[in-house]
Amino acid sequence: MTARIINGTELARSLRAQAAERAARLVERHGVKPGLAVLLVGADPASQVYVRNKVKACEEAGFHSVMETLPPDLSEADLLARIDALNHDPAIHGILVQLPLPGHLSSHTVIEAIAPEKDVDGFHVANAGQLMTGKPQFIPCTPYGVMKMLESVEVPLRGAEAVVVGASNIVGKPMAMLLLQAGATVTLCNSKTRDLAAHTRRADVLVVATGRPGMITGDMVKPGAVVIDVGINRGADGKLCGDVDYASAQAVAGAITPVPGGVGPMTIAMLLINTLEAAERSQAA
Ligand code: NDP
Repeated sequence: MTARIINGTELARSLRAQAAERAARLVERHGVKPGLAVLLVGADPASQVYVRNKVKACEEAGFHSVMETLPPDLSEADLLARIDALNHDPAIHGILVQLPLPGHLSSHTVIEAIAPEKDVDGFHVANAGQLMTGKPQFIPCTPYGVMKMLESVEVPLRGAEAVVVGASNIVGKPMAMLLLQAGATVTLCNSKTRDLAAHTRRADVLVVATGRPGMITGDMVKPGAVVIDVGINRGADGKLCGDVDYASAQAVAGAITPVPGGVGPMTIAMLLINTLEAAERSQAA
């Protein structure tokens, strides 16, 4: 069997076009452009690429965007003051602080400083709590993008066995919650899971987000399963690769996401949707 490829680049393009149309309507009706501020502390090369891609996507969709690169030794007080100013800036509807932060800054303190109604990453505890209770204001962009991908290939989630490998606050945990809310029976695995393959082989839907290149191999995949690879890693050959060994997994899976061109572009598309919705809500309020 050769798996169907779930093309994130194509799906993201159509979602971004929809976001651009809705943004144009907001300008027409209210004279308001959705505005996103992206703060990057330091000069981590991978983070610089992510941030630039996010800002470029905003510009292409007709959003207002502000990108601030701040010095790596910026004090926490100065960063919090900058966030506070953006919280009060009416032209900014979404604030994103690129993670990871330099070691002297607490990501928890920084995220909690963002006004929940502008927390378009959905990482603030208020937003995490709303997601947990099934009434999300913002869904974190990566798991949100994965749900859109599953929807696009009409994967039946009700009653499905879903296994999520990786349990971070920004990907694995919200992913598991969304799958649960869609009616799946969810297993959430971490680095302490005993006999990981016994879990992954049961999965009708397998989502992998560990940051361990190629750790899920074809023999760990149930024939016909839908495999979503969230991982973005730089291989020894300098090329991007996922957490799933694509060559062996695609021979077994029913559908699979590639890296690059899978979940990555969807994350950016969902950031635009969250920012747009924040801007629309600000006008309805
Ligand atoms: P974290 O490092 O925060 O979390 C990794 C998770 O994987 C942890 O829960 C960890 O377990 C678990 N894990 C690690 N090794 C294993 C193992 N051998 N078996 C089972 N579980 C394991 O990573 P993130 O969630 O931030 O990111 C994961 C990957 O997704 C990375 O490659 C990252 O680059 C990528 N990513 C991609 C995005 C996109 O847009 N496509 C967006 C965000 C991330 P434990 O809790 O026990 O430590």
